[in-house]
Amino acid sequence: SGGAGEIEKLALQVPATQWDALQLLQSLGFRVNPNRQICQSAADVQAYYNEWATKRAQLSYLTDGVVVKLNDFVLQQQLGFTQKFPRWAVALKYPAEEVPTVLENVSFQVGRTGAVTPVAELRPVQLAGTTVARATLHNADRLAELDIHRGDTVIVRKAGEIIPEVVRVLAELRPEDATNVTMPTRCPECDSPLVKPEGEAVTRCINSSCPAIVQGAISHWTRRDALDIEGLGEKWVKQLVEQGLVESVADLYSLTVESLLPLDRMGQQLAQKLVDAIAASKARPWASVLYGLGIRHVGTVNAKTLAQHFLTVEDLSTASPDEIATVHTIGPEIAQSVAQWFQVPANQTLIARLAQAKLQLAATPEEQAQAAAAGPLAGKTLVLTGTLPTLTRPEATKLIEAAGGKVTSSVSKATDYLVAGEKAGSKLTKAEGLGVIILSEAELLTLIT
Ligand SMILES: [Zn+2]
Repeated sequence: SGGAGEIEKLALQVPATQWDALQLLQSLGFRVNPNRQICQSAADVQAYYNEWATKRAQLSYLTDGVVVKLNDFVLQQQLGFTQKFPRWAVALKYPAEEVPTVLENVSFQVGRTGAVTPVAELRPVQLAGTTVARATLHNADRLAELDIHRGDTVIVRKAGEIIPEVVRVLAELRPEDATNVTMPTRCPECDSPLVKPEGEAVTRCINSSCPAIVQGAISHWTRRDALDIEGLGEKWVKQLVEQGLVESVADLYSLTVESLLPLDRMGQQLAQKLVDAIAASKARPWASVLYGLGIRHVGTVNAKTLAQHFLTVEDLSTASPDEIATVHTIGPEIAQSVAQWFQVPANQTLIARLAQAKLQLAATPEEQAQAAAAGPLAGKTLVLTGTLPTLTRPEATKLIEAAGGKVTSSVSKATDYLVAGEKAGSKLTKAEGLGVIILSEAELLTLIT
């Protein structure tokens, strides 16, 4: 009881400053940074920043700067926030460490979207705490800009202290026989001609059965935030594609223990585990499946939004770009990308096969109920009357229900809206009498979207 009393006492002393808050956390047993310091002036801050410019190399973790916070919470509150950042805290970054090394070669990686990225193969060099042997060269435009040659001495740094990149080339140190690096014209994985659309930076392989693209698509499908297929790591995906066992994500659902056994280092138990993990992914929700398809611009957030709005794959695949773009936060570029994806015959085949394999291509009744409860017409009762200009009665009813509303047949005091079309009769008169709000079809659609 003594301990509880102590904590109670501590909890009552609400800290008034950043410093006190850290002291309190420390006294409660949390780990806080022991190198913190109170600075009384800008000169103090500058001195601290300068001191750690070199001292930080001895820390057991990587650092890229110092955060300076206003100590007094009252003053913090007074300063408040901009749209994105607090005004009472600022990060003072150290310049990224730059080191010279030699470019031994350039390889070209093909990603899941077919994007071809030139990668510098470097003479290994120590940089910001790790050994760097590879660095991105981004794209064809960047290659041309750097005018990089094999054998060049280059300056490398870590962008945001994480991804190594080539900053510049020391052309004066170029060996005489050095050859210029240019983008290949054919895919290094499948030998199809590469394309680089006018005005775009990215060079792409557009062969959808390119092994690099297939492998990338399957690895994306297995991700935890997509179909969450545990144990199916990249080395297995690579083998499955190379052995011709899998040409699309749909093929995963035909794999059996027997078909997996011939793979290198595969055993009965592991094969069973993988087959079970693949089968378990059939329970993953519609939003995760949609994300797993790897449609351009459809990340986890957009997939969730789209899946909440289009409750089945039929609804989404038959929607026009304009209809998709009416969804809040979904812009025209995303809408275009989604609509285009569903136009591709190979993708339509894929969806049909996934449906056959019993994946979740629609929201479950519980998810539908949840979406409806959060919809713009949640808790509202509507009545339809007359002939609507574009929607049939069942279509209008479906839209209203998806938005959380209820459709009843007769007007009463409990009616929230009457949706009236042409030749509306007695219901309109009654609604007007009761003061019920009358909506046109267009007004209804504005309410819903
Ligand atoms: Zn290719």
